[in-house]
Amino acid sequence: MTKYDVIIIGAGPGGIFSAYELMKLNPNLKVGVFESGYPLEKRHCPIDGKKIKSCIKCKTCAIMNGFGGAGAFSDGKYNITNDFGGTLYEYIGKEEALELMKYVDQINVSHGGENTRLYSTAGSEFKKLCMQNKLNLLEASVRHLGTDINYVVLEKLYDEMKDHVDFHFHTPVRKIELMGKGAAVPEPEKEGAEGDPSANQNKSGQGFRVIYDEGQAECDQCIVSVGRSGSKWMETICKELNIPTKSNRVDIGVRVELPAVIFSHLTDALYESKITYRTEKFEDAVRTFCMNPNGIVVNENTNGIVTVNGHSFEDPEKKTDNTNFALLVSKHFSEPFKDSNDYGESIAKLSNMLGGGVIVQRFGDLERGRRSNPTRIAECTVRPTLSATPGDLSLVLPKRILDGIIEMIYALDKIAPGTANDDTLLYGVEVKFYNMEVKLDKNLMSNYPGLYIIGDGSGVTHSLSHASASGVYVARQIAGAM
Ligand SMILES: Cc1cc2nc3c(=O)[nH]c(=O)nc-3n(C[C@H](O)[C@H](O)[C@H](O)COP(=O)(O)OP(=O)(O)OC[C@H]3O[C@@H](n4cnc5c(N)ncnc54)[C@H](O)[C@@H]3O)c2cc1C
Repeated sequence: MTKYDVIIIGAGPGGIFSAYELMKLNPNLKVGVFESGYPLEKRHCPIDGKKIKSCIKCKTCAIMNGFGGAGAFSDGKYNITNDFGGTLYEYIGKEEALELMKYVDQINVSHGGENTRLYSTAGSEFKKLCMQNKLNLLEASVRHLGTDINYVVLEKLYDEMKDHVDFHFHTPVRKIELMGKGAAVPEPEKEGAEGDPSANQNKSGQGFRVIYDEGQAECDQCIVSVGRSGSKWMETICKELNIPTKSNRVDIGVRVELPAVIFSHLTDALYESKITYRTEKFEDAVRTFCMNPNGIVVNENTNGIVTVNGHSFEDPEKKTDNTNFALLVSKHFSEPFKDSNDYGESIAKLSNMLGGGVIVQRFGDLERGRRSNPTRIAECTVRPTLSATPGDLSLVLPKRILDGIIEMIYALDKIAPGTANDDTLLYGVEVKFYNMEVKLDKNLMSNYPGLYIIGDGSGVTHSLSHASASGVYVARQIAGAM
């Protein structure tokens, strides 16, 4: 049985930045990181575009799991803002949240990101242009590392930590148990109960036992940072330990791919523009998400369901002629329906059922009510960067969501003419799953003293910068208290 001062579950940005900050602040602490995926250099997605063209649903997804987490092969866009990417500021305050994001940025810059650019919407002329067309450009600074430099930063962080922190790869944690006399799971909170989670606190504070396939380890403090891929496991843990949660949101939509020149005036100045739109028909909120200038569209496998995402690279040789971004419609559910993620999964499953994975459709075909077929895609002036099955997204997406996406494409066409061209490609579906929100106090601590839940797995964050900042935040709490 190994005994640690701190155990971190998950080596995504949340877990990495917790470990890094603990090592910096208190090098004497014995820290163990348990990660279900592989070390960075062993993470290889088998899709090569030749022998294996689409997702074969590996047991451990190399894109989502392993050192670097879901962010390892991401575009590495670190948005420094409280406007999107999570609600960390609701727990720790806006100023501190921004400061932590800037601190994370400094670490990235000093670990390989020194030649990357920090873009900003501040004072941009596009704000006005958007407003004039019923669109809203959100405020942010964004450090674009790019997939390649993001990888270098992760390599350097790992090299600096590997002799101070015990990394256990390919070790999914199955269970967390309370230790010590009097350790007892408290009564479940009444549904919808509000207030300070510490009111429902287990007072034992005597540490935790972490169970994995080959054994177990003990610790005084435990940081859980399991991200989106660990969302189902997180739900189980919360049920077992009676940690209150709530869940009511999922974002569903498509990934748009078009010639890079159509968006170049925006992407050259801002790199990523987060634009929101309120539909005229239903007053639903639609937004752009994860813009990848000169990038590629990729598959994403979440719990065996194949959805779509996008990347781009800093390396000029890897740049394509296309830009891609998601258009997402937020769905909030109210009682009695609770499982918003299941709703999103069911829609994604429908596209997987019809297309064997992701479906691609020309915007012109969607507007004319016909499926895209291989011939129409082959004749398309936009060359698809992902091999997806030509099909009909109107058979997959609910009408209200599809109407919202079509409305926003026409709204974007006014600030970036050409967006609504017939040959614009739409890949579906893109789903942004939100983990259920775990009830936490202002220290991001659950109702168990010493059990912290951070990053995307907590439902508090949905981005690299917020997840990383939450890791630094709890590490400082722990280091300060030990
Ligand atoms: C393709 C892609 C592109 C993206 N691009 C961007 C972007 O440009 N900018 C941005 O801000 N965000 C982006 N994101 C989102 C971003 O990656 C996440 O918000 C971020 O990684 C969350 O960090 P995290 O540490 O909370 O979780 P994760 O990065 O998901 O890491 C969690 C880790 O925990 C491990 N784990 C899960 N369960 C267990 C268990 N039971 N035991 C042990 N380990 C476990 C997982 O294997 C994983 O490695 C992207 C995501 C994807 C998939």
